[in-house]
Amino acid sequence: MSRVVRDSIQILQAQGYKVTKPRRQVLEVLEEVQRPLSPYDIQRLLRQEGKYLNHVTIYRILDLFCCLNLAHKVLSSGGFVKCSLEGKGGCHRLMVCRCCGALQEFASEGLCQEENELAQNSGFHTEYHLSESSGVCSDCYKKQ
Ligand SMILES: [Zn+2]
Ligand SMILES: [Zn+2]
Ligand SMILES: [Zn+2]
Repeated sequence: MSRVVRDSIQILQAQGYKVTKPRRQVLEVLEEVQRPLSPYDIQRLLRQEGKYLNHVTIYRILDLFCCLNLAHKVLSSGGFVKCSLEGKGGCHRLMVCRCCGALQEFASEGLCQEENELAQNSGFHTEYHLSESSGVCSDCYKKQ
């Protein structure tokens, strides 16, 4: 088992969640494949290894992982990716390269606070933030 999967398992346990076999299998697939996957992609990849999970189960697991910041939904493509900043506070924001599809993440509690305050000025009570940056990664930028 990889270190990242082990860390994720610890986060699940620390939050009081059981590490069921399906949860572990989904974690492992997300860790192995470093690109956004739909629940159907995950189902197909598991099936290739002789494992079967129905897609409702996979959706529920992905929902939980997203709530715990163990995984994120890529807003622009709808796929799911493993979090690369485990345990970091604040919303995790993805930067998606429109040339090569590379994903990077940042998180900032200060940014979240600022957003909450801006919304509060309009009398809005924020529950969560959704945002994503689209652009060009440093490698692709150099090649341009
Ligand atoms: Zn993250
Ligand atoms: Zn790129
Ligand atoms: Zn936030």
